[in-house]
Amino acid sequence: MSGKHTIGIDLGGTNIKAGILDDGGELIYRCSIETQAEHGFEHVFCRLVELVDNCINAADLAKTDIAAIGYGTPGPMSHEEGIVYASPNLPGWENIPLRARFSAATGLPVTLDNDANVAAYGEFIAGAGKGTRDMVMLTLGTGIGGGIILNGRLHRGAFDNAAEIGHTIAVANGRPCPCGQRGCLERYGSANAVAERFVEALEAGEDSPLKASVEAGETLTAVDVERAAQAGDALAVRIWDETCLYLALACIDIQHTLNPECVVLGGGLIGAGDQLLKPVRGHFQQQSWQLAKDHPRIELATLGNDAGIIGAAALARSESESRA
Ligand SMILES: [Zn+2]
Repeated sequence: MSGKHTIGIDLGGTNIKAGILDDGGELIYRCSIETQAEHGFEHVFCRLVELVDNCINAADLAKTDIAAIGYGTPGPMSHEEGIVYASPNLPGWENIPLRARFSAATGLPVTLDNDANVAAYGEFIAGAGKGTRDMVMLTLGTGIGGGIILNGRLHRGAFDNAAEIGHTIAVANGRPCPCGQRGCLERYGSANAVAERFVEALEAGEDSPLKASVEAGETLTAVDVERAAQAGDALAVRIWDETCLYLALACIDIQHTLNPECVVLGGGLIGAGDQLLKPVRGHFQQQSWQLAKDHPRIELATLGNDAGIIGAAALARSESESRA
């Protein structure tokens, strides 16, 4: 391994975030630029390559100081082959041999992982899961992403698709999911699902002070439902509590499948703070077995938007070290 630093990149539909970790694992530089996804793959790819150079210059480093680049991508990909199969919200990103192209363009080794995996690894290295050996993270946003750390290593599975916990089945023959299954956890426990289930209940005839604004065409978010629940809206209280129950049951499934020390909840939904954490922990305590004292700690993620870049850079470091 030539350099001592690694670069982490977290690509999203709106922004590309990048950061540099030093050899002590400290985030010494971070920046964010617009993705400009509407201009297609080649345009975004040029921005990625430029961003690497700009980060190195802005941090007052040289390319020889960099050991590797870690890259977190949304959507299906192959870590092993270094291919991005598709990226939601990124038109033209289909079957891209990203690792080979990015590595050729930058002259640096590149490692590729799913964005939920890199965020989980970030929380494991430097956030809510720091100090644990076995940890699972659920990212609660538009959908639900997951990341599994076993024995200190990211668990990718035989087909690079481990930890798609959002697509474990919460309800038999339940709400349809864009993935093709029915009853997926993310159709009940994601931020989007909170708002959708609330609107469906209104359409089925239930009442709420928010009914008028929904009928006027306003788009509700999970934050609206959570605030309404806090204000005592009975329907919002029920939908929010059911959401926390689904998430607690997912934590129980994780407990019995992997027996981790810690389950970390991340993503936009954790903006609710204790309004989310307390009921999830409460339902977990009530529903999980008492046969063994093996309940994982349930914690909120602490790194926010930095989790992805820290995790991607740390994964690049761990791969560089194993190659050396
Ligand atoms: Zn699904």
